[in-house]
Order: sequence, then structure tokens, then C-alpha cells
Amino acid sequence: MNVSNFEPNWQIEKIEWAILPGKRARHAGFNARKGEHGIDVPLHLARVTIAGYEGCGWSRITKQSAQELVGKKARDMFNERGTVREEFRGIEFPLFDWIGRVQGKPVNSLISAGSSAQQKVACYDTSLYLDDLHLSDDLAAVEFMKTEALEGMNRGHANFKLKVGRGARHMPLMKGTERDIAIIRGIREAAGPYGKIMIDANNGYNLNLTKHVLQETADVKLYWVEEAFHEDEEFYKDLKAWMQKAGINVLIADGEGLAAPTLVQWAKEGIIDVVQHDVLAPGFSHWLELGPELDAAHVKSAPHSYGTPYGNYALSHLASAIKGFQFVEWDQIEVEGMDASGYRIEDGFVHVPSEPGFGLNFDDAYVSKRVQESGWTTGL
Ligand SMILES: [Mg+2]
Repeated sequence: MNVSNFEPNWQIEKIEWAILPGKRARHAGFNARKGEHGIDVPLHLARVTIAGYEGCGWSRITKQSAQELVGKKARDMFNERGTVREEFRGIEFPLFDWIGRVQGKPVNSLISAGSSAQQKVACYDTSLYLDDLHLSDDLAAVEFMKTEALEGMNRGHANFKLKVGRGARHMPLMKGTERDIAIIRGIREAAGPYGKIMIDANNGYNLNLTKHVLQETADVKLYWVEEAFHEDEEFYKDLKAWMQKAGINVLIADGEGLAAPTLVQWAKEGIIDVVQHDVLAPGFSHWLELGPELDAAHVKSAPHSYGTPYGNYALSHLASAIKGFQFVEWDQIEVEGMDASGYRIEDGFVHVPSEPGFGLNFDDAYVSKRVQESGWTTGL
């Protein structure tokens, strides 16, 4: 990324912040731990003005922190590696969008480190929650979840992640586990033989339950098991050794939320296969630094993204900076005032627009209205 052509007098002139309402394509139910995830998913948005150009993106910065950034020089925002410097990370998405607009380039081409930016990135439908809990009959539950997978296929998806761990809290232990297994089989049937299928237990299994489920679904050929239980070196080593003996080859994915500080080290040692730190926090610059480190250690990267509309687009660009990038975790959400029509999903891939910045177009007047109704402005 070339910041040498920044004028010395370019500075942060204004930061505006607003909440834009957003709605999922379908209501999301329980996971193994928590209750309803619902349908309303707002976008927390900052609009930053520098040298007359605006950059927009996800941000949870407070007005007080924003006030401290106003007047800071644009030259000081990025470091030599092309990542946003620590003190500016609260607005890193608007800054990447801004620099893309100034240079007339999409973010993926700014961060692709020599190789060409990817126009097409593999993605999966992350919307298959424990949405069947109202049904007492397992067969009906399987059919219900299959229709959700079909809805995803109609939206262009080929790969799916489904929540499991029904027996952790919401159903009796073995009854819930057997239903998990039946639904995994049903989703494979719906997706056909080629789509990749992942399961996510949100730490609702233990080691023995994980082995039981993987044994019973061996012919489904799951791609990864995510957060089977709270990450534990001993349990994961045992699971790996057991899989090897059983001839089961399912990747171990972990690291979203409050990840163990030693998780990256375990991944480098081969105990975990896929690292899933969140794309918004610790964030995009964090991933631009971590991704190449994981590449060098032959560890796969699948940044977590859920509960915000922005991750879909941030991940579609981030993929170009990381060789071992696996998928965009896609949660279909429509946001008022945000035009994301440059993005398209087809046959399990996101087609990434080549427009400047993140390729999202915001309705300026609507954002200004929402700044007044739900947010704040600070500037010179
Ligand atoms: Mg997860």
C-alpha cells in the first residue's frame, strides 16, 4: 500500500457515527448455548472525512475516542506493512474504504501482497441454527432443517455450517445428540455430495460426544468441527490421535470469542487446523498480520463473522491477503441505506465487486439522517 503520495496536510476532518437498521433473510434461532439470535441485525457505521473524501465502514468507536482522532494526519494512520496503526483501529474499516476511494482501487487489490486480488471467494451459509427445537419428531426436524439448506441453495450457496449441540442445554443429552446426527445427514442430502459441510457446537460437546458424532457421521465427510468444546490442548490432541486411528479426516476449527491466548501456538503445533479469530474484533489489521504468520506455519484461516452485516464484505476482501483463507462466513442481511448489490453469490462463491474501497454504496442523505437520529458527529 502506497501512502507516500498522501499530502502532508491531509488530516481527519470529520467522524460521523450512526446505527443503520438491518434484517436477516430469516429469523435465527438458538445455538447450543444461547437463545434466539433473531432477525434484526443493525450496522454500526462510521463515516470518516479526510481531504474531502469519505470512507464508510463498521465501527463501534465512542464519540470521545473519535474526538481524539480528529485532526490527526492521514500519513500516520497506516504503518509500513499496510495495516492500520493501533491508535486508529477503532475506525480501520472506514480508513481502508477511504484509501481505496482515494486511490480508485478495491481494498482486496490494496492488501493482496503481490499476488492478484481474488474476484471470487468461497463462502458458506452460516444461517442454519437450532431452528427445529419446536418440533418433537426427529424426522420432521430433519425435513425442517433441509428446507433451510434449500433456501440457502436458492441464494447461491453450496457450502453450509450448521449449529449442533442440541443436547447441551435445549434437549436431553442423547436425544439432542441423535437429532444432531440425523440433521447432519439431512443437510448432506440436501447439499449433495460436493458442498462442504461444517458443524459448530459452540462448546456444547465434550470429547467423547465429539467422537461419537464424528464416528456416526463419518460417511458425511464433514469439513470441520468448530468449537466442539472449550479449547483444551489435551482434549484436542486426543481427538486428533483418535481421528487418525479411525481414518476420519475432519479439521478442528476454533478461536472465536474469548479464545485461549495459546490457541495460535497450538495451531502452529498442529493441534488445531483452522484459526477463527473474529474479523471485526480483534479485527482486519490484526488478520492482515496474523494471516501470513499462519500461512507460514501451514495453518488455515477462517475468520469468524456473525452478528453484524459487515463481516460478509470485509471477509470477501481479506481473502486476498491470506493464502490459507477458507471461506467467507455469510449471513444474509439487508441494511437500510446500504447498497451491496455489487456482491453476488453463485455456486458457493462470492463475486467481489471491483469498485473502490469495500464496494458498498451508502445513501449519503439517509446516513446523515441516521447520524442525527441515532448517532453523533465530531469534526474540526
Ligand atoms: Mg462459531
